[in-house]
Amino acid sequence: MTIYLDGKFVDESEAKVSVFDHGLLYGDGVFEGIRLYQGNVFRLDEHLERLEYSAKALMLKLPLTHAEIAEAICETCRRNNLTDGYIRLVVTRGVGDLGLSPWLCPKPSIFIIASKIALYPAEHYTTGLAIVTVATRRMNSAALSPSVKSLNYLNNIMAKIEARQAGALEAIMLNDQGYVAECTGDNIFIVHKGTILTPAASQGALKGITRSSIIDVAKELGIPLQEVDLTRYDIWNADECFLTGTAAEVIPVVKLDGREIGTAKPGPITHRVLEAFRRKVLVEGTRI
Ligand code: PMP
Repeated sequence: MTIYLDGKFVDESEAKVSVFDHGLLYGDGVFEGIRLYQGNVFRLDEHLERLEYSAKALMLKLPLTHAEIAEAICETCRRNNLTDGYIRLVVTRGVGDLGLSPWLCPKPSIFIIASKIALYPAEHYTTGLAIVTVATRRMNSAALSPSVKSLNYLNNIMAKIEARQAGALEAIMLNDQGYVAECTGDNIFIVHKGTILTPAASQGALKGITRSSIIDVAKELGIPLQEVDLTRYDIWNADECFLTGTAAEVIPVVKLDGREIGTAKPGPITHRVLEAFRRKVLVEGTRI
């Protein structure tokens, strides 16, 4: 596999970062997970904009321009003969000393991996997931905005561990007011009496790129969609539920905390949205 690393294309065996990189020492850096469908990078500009916003929040100067990163992504896909896959774009603070100070890290590092991902076993896309709510709360935005897609994912990893301990593949994380924020690596939607509902980003949800494409899909299909505060009760009593993410795409949820959602089968609106999303990813995108 060929990796893009700081201006060079190198074999994965040579793609190494320093033990003094603050991305490793402190999780100081930003990243994006991006999808490639039939030679088109899905919503590349939106991903790069989110990366730029995350970097701005951390006062991390990206080492390349928007256009240069876009080209490096496309070239990494081409060099790996990839037409469908998952791209990981990472910018770290770079090498510094053993103190926290980012200003002692003069050169951020950037690398791009173009590979594959299968987040959930294929059968769950037809049968749906059973998920749980975990005790680990989503990060308070006064501590670290959940909109920042940083290399510091411990909050989500703690929740993922709890999910696994409970025998589930994904978990709902509440915010510190007890409202539903999102899942450990996916945004959440429910359907209630024909309307699609999802928590606002202000409740602690990442502004997911898949989430925003589902908002577009709902408009295109004429299905009403609202951003609202949701509690666990709302999800237990929803007609349908599904999760969205670049790696997960759109996956139905049929059970939360042991309560069956709707008919305990992926519902008709979930199916319509999923199919429209699958069509959308084939027509939108930047040709590599
Ligand atoms: N929430 C979190 C915490 C995430 O890490 C992700 C990305 N894996 C998402 C939501 C979904 O965002 P996107 O659709 O942009 O992948």
